[in-house]
Amino acid sequence: MIDLENLTITKARKALDAKEFSAVELAQAYLQEIEKKNKELNAYLEVYDDVLEQAKASDEMIGRGESYPLLGIPLAIKDVILIKGKKVSAASKILENYVASYDATVISKLKKQGAIFLGRTNTDEFAMGGSTENSAFGVTKNPHDTSRVAGGSSGGSVVAVTSNMALGALGSDTGGSVREPASFCGIVGLKPTYGRVSRYGLIAMGSSLDCIGQIAKNTEDARIIFEAVSGYDVLDSTSMSDNLKNKLKAESYKLKADTIGVPWSLINAKGVDKKVKENFQESIKKLETIGFKIKDISLKNLDLMLATYYIIMPAEASTNLARFDGERYGLHIDGPNLLEDYTLTKGAGFGKEVRRRILLGAYVLSAGYYDAYYGKAQNIRNMLKKEFAETFQDVDIIATPTAPFVAWKIGEKSDPLSVYLADIFTITANMVGAPAISIPSGFVKVGPSQIKLPLGIQFMASHGREDLLFEVGKKFEEINSPLEEYP
Ligand code: GLN
Repeated sequence: MIDLENLTITKARKALDAKEFSAVELAQAYLQEIEKKNKELNAYLEVYDDVLEQAKASDEMIGRGESYPLLGIPLAIKDVILIKGKKVSAASKILENYVASYDATVISKLKKQGAIFLGRTNTDEFAMGGSTENSAFGVTKNPHDTSRVAGGSSGGSVVAVTSNMALGALGSDTGGSVREPASFCGIVGLKPTYGRVSRYGLIAMGSSLDCIGQIAKNTEDARIIFEAVSGYDVLDSTSMSDNLKNKLKAESYKLKADTIGVPWSLINAKGVDKKVKENFQESIKKLETIGFKIKDISLKNLDLMLATYYIIMPAEASTNLARFDGERYGLHIDGPNLLEDYTLTKGAGFGKEVRRRILLGAYVLSAGYYDAYYGKAQNIRNMLKKEFAETFQDVDIIATPTAPFVAWKIGEKSDPLSVYLADIFTITANMVGAPAISIPSGFVKVGPSQIKLPLGIQFMASHGREDLLFEVGKKFEEINSPLEEYP
């Protein structure tokens, strides 16, 4: 029996090289877990039928003496990332039977390493949401309490890793969709610097915000996946060149994982759960005891971020989703004329939240409103970018809770605005394009049954400085065992 509970990518890699178990045996162990748990948790929308063949090919590579960090490692892939020949639906009826005709760049990179794809995971439709309740194919449940949401939109990928149904995963993060579910489920979620991981082959939502993120049990595993999938890509026009990457690093050479800035006024604001605040304060104290300097910072425009995001993101999403018109991809419903084709197809294919955002986006971009909404939002975004850059003159890292509350009960938040609030701490990194990571920060007991639910702490760094996030993440993991209880 392979001890999946305590397995990490690093450990699995060593064991595979030492022939303690084969890639086929490892894949089989994960398939068995999926068989046992997926029905209830609904993390996977599809488990691929060629997993063991993939694993056999990985074993052959190992047999030839090849060794890559992800060779033979079973991964889960969010249902918005294209794998050639496999279905990819963005958890939407409009793409229900769509088969990808090419590999996303992240997938080609993983294939070269001999990683194994177990299946595609559930998400809010087109990654729009913070709970995975907006999927057209059912909600994904939180393994810590199946009456609660897993978080979202990358809920499926996060639950797969949390419940030993995959050793690592890819998600996408436009406003927090990798970090927020990671916090709700108690694992690690990384959103890299915008442009460091190619978006080629990622179904677009908000193109200036979208990032493919890495999901794992610990920081080192997240780093390994990040290293495997990042790098300049000629197929993505917003991909970061090596020159720019080196320039950013050179410009920020003074930054060391040493001083942490905390925007206390935002954390102490209304709407942040008391237990979240206490857990965060405790985490900051722990960081202080191991030598980090803590500084109070004020990011003046931070409280405008949420409103600004919910203008820019729908604007970009409505533009991106215009291509799903029933003529080119996926679902087609025939009407008496072309316009009717469009309305019938979109009406049947898109869920409520997607339609809401398309309408909102089309509105803020329409003549007469463009300057009042979209133009203003862009100005605020630029102001925040400047402010964010200035902050890194004073501190090396910024810390906040990942989410203002714990995972909520399925169906509890019927008002979309209350779900949007879940992104209050995560959105900034997307708006400015900076990297951010969520690390488990312990558990809190909630409700009459005092059930233990996980929380996360988020660290943000200057552009291109994922290395600082890995450093602080690992140090925090050392002092804060994920199993530790609080209070
Ligand atoms: N919850 C946010 C939204 O609904 C973020 C989604 C995401 O990061 N994909 O827009």
